[in-house]
Amino acid sequence: MTWEVVVGLEVHAELSTRSKIFCGCTTAFGGEPNSQVCPVCSGMPGSLPRLNSAVVEYAARLGIALNCEIANECVFDRKNYFYPDLPKAYQISQLYAPICSGGFLEIEVGEASKKIGIREIHMEEDAGKLIHNSQSGETFMDFNRCGVPLLEIVSLPDIRSGAEAAAYLERLREILLYLDICDCKMQEGSLRADVNLSVRRCGSSEFGVRTEMKNLNSIKAVSRAIEHESVRQIALLDRGGTVTQQTRRWDDTKGESYAMRSKENAQDYRYFPEPDLPNSALGESWLARILENMPELAHEKRERYAGEFGISAYEAKVLTGDRNIAGLFEELASLCGNPKEAARLISGELMRLMNASSILPEELNIDASKLAKLVVLVTEGKISRDAYKETIEAVFTQNVDPGAYIAQKGLLMQSDDDAVMESVLAAINDNPEAVADYFLGKEKALTFLMGKVMKKLGKSANPIAVKKSMEDRLQCIGGKK
Ligand code: ADP
Ligand code: MG
Ligand code: ZN
Repeated sequence: MTWEVVVGLEVHAELSTRSKIFCGCTTAFGGEPNSQVCPVCSGMPGSLPRLNSAVVEYAARLGIALNCEIANECVFDRKNYFYPDLPKAYQISQLYAPICSGGFLEIEVGEASKKIGIREIHMEEDAGKLIHNSQSGETFMDFNRCGVPLLEIVSLPDIRSGAEAAAYLERLREILLYLDICDCKMQEGSLRADVNLSVRRCGSSEFGVRTEMKNLNSIKAVSRAIEHESVRQIALLDRGGTVTQQTRRWDDTKGESYAMRSKENAQDYRYFPEPDLPNSALGESWLARILENMPELAHEKRERYAGEFGISAYEAKVLTGDRNIAGLFEELASLCGNPKEAARLISGELMRLMNASSILPEELNIDASKLAKLVVLVTEGKISRDAYKETIEAVFTQNVDPGAYIAQKGLLMQSDDDAVMESVLAAINDNPEAVADYFLGKEKALTFLMGKVMKKLGKSANPIAVKKSMEDRLQCIGGKK
C-alpha cells in the first residue's frame, strides 16, 4: 500500500524594521544581552504597547506578493502562556483576524509549477532567548529579541514532499529578500519553519493525524525532517499503530526527532482580544500607496528577462539569485544596450571571479559603466575576447579604468593596418598545403591559416579583420588560378 505525505508549513520571518513592534527599542542582532529592552518589551506592569506602522506595511507587502486578501483593520489578540523567555507571560498576536488571508505561492518542481495555498499571514512579537550553559547547568535570559516583529506565514496542507517544501521555502525567502522586509538569515533565526506532517493512503481524501516539528533553521533540515518523519509515521501505521498528535523536536545533527509534548490547542492559550491595543483601520489610500510601491519580484524578473531579452532560463536564474546582481544586470543592460551580452558577462565571467574570491552576490560592488564600456568594445570588435576577460578581471580586482588599462596593455586590436596584411601574406606563403586544402573546400584550412596570423600578432589581433583580410587574399589567389 502506498502512502502520500501531507505537509503544511508555518514560517516565522523576523522583520528588518529598525525598531520593535510595540516600542522604540532597536531590533539589531547580536547586542549585549538585555541592552535593547524597555518597560514595554520587558513586560513591566503599567507600560503600554504602541503599534509600529512599518510592521503593518511590511505585512501588507508580503500579503500582496502572496496574492492574499488584506484586512481593512489591524486586530490583535493575546495568547497567554508562561515560559521564561516571555517576561509578560503572554504574546501579542493575531488569532481571529489575521492581516492577510487566502493567498497562494507558486513553486516550480521539475518542469511543472504548483500553487501552494497560503491560509494566512499574521503579525506577532518574538520572544526572548534562553542561553543554556551545559557545564554549569545555568540558564541565562536575553530579552533583546522580545518584541522583535514577526510575520507568521501559514500554508495550507498542500505540500507533498521534502522537495516541494524546499521549493516553497526558497521561493518565500526570495520574495522576502526582494521585498526587503527580512534578512532571511536562517542561521541567526530570522527565518524559521515549523513542519506539520501527516501521511494518508494514496487516493484517500481525508487527512491523517499530524505531528509538528518546531523551529527548523535551514531548508536542508526541513527536507531531512520531512523524509525522516514520513518514514517514521508510515512504519508506525504499517505495523497497525496510530500516530499521536504531538509536538516533536528535530535534532538535525543526529537526524532524528523526539516527542516533546502532546500538541496544544488554541483553547490552551486562553486567547482574548488584546485590551491594550485599539483596532486600527487601514485605509484604501494606504493600501493603494503600498501597491504602487511594490518592487518587481525575482520570478517576475525572470519571466521578463526571458520574454523581453530572450536570455536563457539558466542565466535568468543566476541573475535574479540576488537583488543586487539583478540591479547590476539591469543597469549594465541599459548602459551597453546589449542585454544578452550583459547577461553572459554577469552569469559567466563575473560569477566566476566572485566564486574565486569568495565574494557574496549581495556584497558585490562594481561600476556598471566600466563594464558597459567593455561590452561595447568587444561587440564592436575593438578588443578580443581574451582582452575583454582580462580587463573585466582588472576592473573587478583593482577597479581600473578600462580605457586606460587597454591603452597601457596595448590591447586595442589592429584591424586594417599593414601588420595584418603582412602576416596574412606570410601565412599564405609559408603554408602552401593549407592554401591548396582551402581551395579543395576544407574549412579547417582557413582556421589553420588564421591561427598562424593570430599567433604572430598576439592579443591585439582582431579576428574579424584577420579573417576578412585572409579571405580577400585567398580570393585574389583563387582568381588568378
Ligand atoms: P495549529 O493551530 O496547531 O497551528 P493549524 O490548523 O493552524 O494548527 O495548522 C497549522 C499548520 O498545519 C498549517 O500549515 C496546516 O496547513 C498544517 N496542517 C493542518 N492539518 C494538517 C495535517 N493533517 N497534515 C499536515 N499538515 C496539516
Ligand atoms: Mg502551529
Ligand atoms: Zn522595548
